[in-house]
Amino acid sequence: MEFICKKCGLIHRLGETKIKKNYLSNGGYHEKAYCENCGTFLKNLPHAKPAKLYFGKYKGGFINVIAKKDSSYLQWLIKQEIKISLKNSIIEALEALGHDKESDLFSRN
Ligand SMILES: [Zn+2]
Repeated sequence: MEFICKKCGLIHRLGETKIKKNYLSNGGYHEKAYCENCGTFLKNLPHAKPAKLYFGKYKGGFINVIAKKDSSYLQWLIKQEIKISLKNSIIEALEALGHDKESDLFSRN
């Protein structure tokens, strides 16, 4: 899939664009792609399914919903032996809520 910026003409491939996520109250989110060069809005991306936890006390829950309810649980969880893709989803969800990577996620015990 390719997007051409209407403003500056730069051609982007999917994965090379700036993506912003708008989180929805039902736990899902919309993704919007922006031009890497000039920042112009390019395209709404196909609806992404939110990541879920598949174990533990919030099994079946959406990560971004849990992040609002119990962010300390997720901060604990990313220090455990979990899949890297899950860890990245959790970090994204925490960052979307304004948690600072340096002070919150990695240096606190
Ligand atoms: Zn552009």
